[in-house]
Amino acid sequence: MKVCRTISELRNELKILREQSKVISFVPTMGYLHEGHLSLVRFAKNNSNICVVSIFVNPTQFGANEDFNRYPRDEQRDLELLKNEKCDFVFIPSSDEMYGKDYQTFVNVKKYSQILEGEFRPGHFEGVTTVVLKLFNIVQPDFAVFGQKDAQQAFIIQKMVDDLNVPVRIEVLPIVREKDGLAMSSRNVYLNAEERKQALALYNSIQLAEKFLKEGERNSDRIIEEIKKLMLQYPLIKIDYVEIVDKNTFTKIKEIEKDKSYYLLLAVRIGATRLIDNTILKV
Ligand code: AMP
Repeated sequence: MKVCRTISELRNELKILREQSKVISFVPTMGYLHEGHLSLVRFAKNNSNICVVSIFVNPTQFGANEDFNRYPRDEQRDLELLKNEKCDFVFIPSSDEMYGKDYQTFVNVKKYSQILEGEFRPGHFEGVTTVVLKLFNIVQPDFAVFGQKDAQQAFIIQKMVDDLNVPVRIEVLPIVREKDGLAMSSRNVYLNAEERKQALALYNSIQLAEKFLKEGERNSDRIIEEIKKLMLQYPLIKIDYVEIVDKNTFTKIKEIEKDKSYYLLLAVRIGATRLIDNTILKV
């Protein structure tokens, strides 16, 4: 496994491999890796000749009052985990390497960057799409792997790739959860014992929605109301949003229809920690 810290170093390595027609996969991350990240790396590794993982806590996707400075970092541990997965290249650029010299250019997937997560984190998706397009241009992978954990992010990146004709295939893999159902996230380390218990409100909400669907409920507002009622039982939880959207258009819907797919999207704050989760709803 080779660690590259500059764009030119990684480009030179990959150029030779591309000329040998190697299939290159790419997994962008912000590090502090867990089993969710590693499931993406395993998929990437199993479906390509060369697997590239990036670790970059991207400053442009954090708001001024967000957790950029305290975002957890442990490079040595991440490198050990990636070595175990037989990852081929780890790209760890500095902010200067990515945004040095008078940086001016941003990508904006307009409509979809303003709703849901975008409403609560203004500018977030612009930072995400910009850094992801930069990384795609640096790595030029055949495919890139993302997690359904960040469903709106994956949707927006697919839209960017379609709109800008970026020659990269996007793969989206299921959410990896802790034994009790909490979606794995680097941010879970922020939670104290009581917050960690109450974080189960998210998974319990997903299960409640599934139960209502099974019992024949098709009205999305009623399902959302029941979830909001459930969340009231967790005094540390503050809801940012609970929404049901069409999986293919990310627009809100009234009724769950047969043979269509939807996302139930959840975003909450527990103390100082913001957590998101989601599930695919289908009848
Ligand atoms: P992050 O380091 O949080 O930017 O995440 C990097 C990638 O890992 C993104 O594509 C995430 O959606 C994905 N990811 C994060 N948590 C999980 C999880 N619990 N299960 C599956 N994928 C995940």
